Amino acid sequence: MTTSANDIEKRIWERLEQIPDPEVPVITITELGVVRGIDWDGDKLTITITPTYTGCPAMTLFTAEIRAAMHAMGFQNLDIKTVYSPAWTTDWLSDAAREKLRRYGIAPPVKTISDPDDLFAPPPAVPCPHCGSDHTHESSRFGSTACKALYVCDDCKEPFEYFKHF
Ligand SMILES: [Zn+2]
Repeated sequence: MTTSANDIEKRIWERLEQIPDPEVPVITITELGVVRGIDWDGDKLTITITPTYTGCPAMTLFTAEIRAAMHAMGFQNLDIKTVYSPAWTTDWLSDAAREKLRRYGIAPPVKTISDPDDLFAPPPAVPCPHCGSDHTHESSRFGSTACKALYVCDDCKEPFEYFKHF
């Protein structure tokens, strides 16, 4: 053997780092924090992932993308394991991912004290990703996907998507 399992796992990470989040293509699935671990035993490859918020349909897409990328690298004996604990939260987003979201025009998650499952809780104050103003309001609780809401900035009048905190 000229390549160790560590080298192979490193190459797999590098490949996974290139897979975009199907919902927000500017950030990758590793920046999102859904890939928990990789294990290559010389024959079988096991990749462990934690699903994001269950309201996000992207999880099946993640799995398909990971599977396709690993098959392209030559890994046929592949197991994608899903672990639910600890549950994924938007706190797992890296600072780089938050900055990328903002530059893409999506407001990154804001920590709130209200229960994210409480549909009647007041929407959080979300700074506008275009001009930075705090004068914004929620125009729709659900954006293009259940994990985003639509906001409008009262200063620059631009609409934007807010990646909900959960
Ligand atoms: Zn604005």
